[in-house]
Amino acid sequence: MTFKTINNMDLNGKTVLLRVDLNVPVQDGKVTDTTRIDRAKPTIDALREKGAKIAVLAHFGRPKGAVNPEFSLSFLPPVLTSSWGCDVAFASDCIGDAAKDAISALAPGDVVLLENVRFHKGEEGNDAAFTKALAKLGDVFINDAFSAAHRAHASTEGLAHFLPCAAGLLMEAELNALQNALEKPQNPVMAVVGGAKISTKLSVLENLVQKVDYLFLGGGMANTFLFAQGQPVGMSLCEKDMAEEAKAISQKAEAAGCKIILPTDRIAVREFGENVPFEVIAAADIADDQEAVDIGPQTITNIDALLATCKTVLWNGPMGVFEVKPFDKGTNGVAESVAKYTKSGQMISVAGGGDTVAALENAGVADDFTYISTAGGAFLEWLEGKTLPGVAALMQPSKAA
Ligand code: AMP
Repeated sequence: MTFKTINNMDLNGKTVLLRVDLNVPVQDGKVTDTTRIDRAKPTIDALREKGAKIAVLAHFGRPKGAVNPEFSLSFLPPVLTSSWGCDVAFASDCIGDAAKDAISALAPGDVVLLENVRFHKGEEGNDAAFTKALAKLGDVFINDAFSAAHRAHASTEGLAHFLPCAAGLLMEAELNALQNALEKPQNPVMAVVGGAKISTKLSVLENLVQKVDYLFLGGGMANTFLFAQGQPVGMSLCEKDMAEEAKAISQKAEAAGCKIILPTDRIAVREFGENVPFEVIAAADIADDQEAVDIGPQTITNIDALLATCKTVLWNGPMGVFEVKPFDKGTNGVAESVAKYTKSGQMISVAGGGDTVAALENAGVADDFTYISTAGGAFLEWLEGKTLPGVAALMQPSKAA
């Protein structure tokens, strides 16, 4: 690890600007999933124990650089208080007198949430004047928002150039998990990639085939690869215009020694819906009026056997239309295999991006994976092999705190 962590930092009495991801789902003014808030708690606890004064920086929605009450964070302090187990004050701006006054009222161990950083244009513009106005408020910058690290914004990247900086505990855990799974993994490595389309994950697939031993493709994107091989796909979701791209990825995989594995059997329906009649068919036997909505039992068994030989698994995307039962069975079956081998200690498993967390939670095995990232875009960009600006900024030679 070449980035600094908070572990050996003396933060007693210091004001920490802590960037976290509080971009939580909200319906009718209520937070419907507190996962992101809960995941910040270990860092909050550690900073409070160290006697830091904590000013929390976060964004919410896309107010596009203007004050907009619809995107105010003012509703969050009670939710933060109940998750973090400490009082959380609120400042009506993240810079200027409102922020300064709220921070000067903090005692060591106290926490204040500053208003949405995206109310200022300088946040997304990573503007130096805005970043300086933020930096003036604190002594140290701690970034715990891996999920926002693919953006070079003032509070995710810029601040690292103005203040001593370090990764928070969640950021540290994310980076360790991703490095263990992709940068220096134990072989053999299998990537399990599903989801709707290959067009949204071309760069991910291109990078993965250079790095992993096996790439198992499920979900709708498997149809495009089957189609590219000349197999029928019936009415299935299939990006026929991406067949050339699928072929190019297959060639890259072959050159890199990566074996691409496609489903050998499918769950096919004629009319889509909850608990509609379905058939288990060999992949090549799909009829013109059928749609493949999941991988079949033989594929699950074959993947289980191959997983038994693997030491590392990376997972993104569901194997079928998991939102509609029983078409979650393919995702659940493969997830259960990964969970089984992870629990027995023979495998490191890291999953994340988009619908993956929901799919693995639905499978009831999310807790049995080595690490599940709640980051969407940042996780995918990491899988693409991109350097994330927020992470790169933490890697720079650190100024002493
Ligand atoms: P993504 O965001 O690309 O990971 O795609 C997730 C979506 O892919 C989910 O909403 C699934 O319902 C959908 N999906 C998975 N398998 C299929 C399939 N065989 N046909 C159509 N959609 C699928």
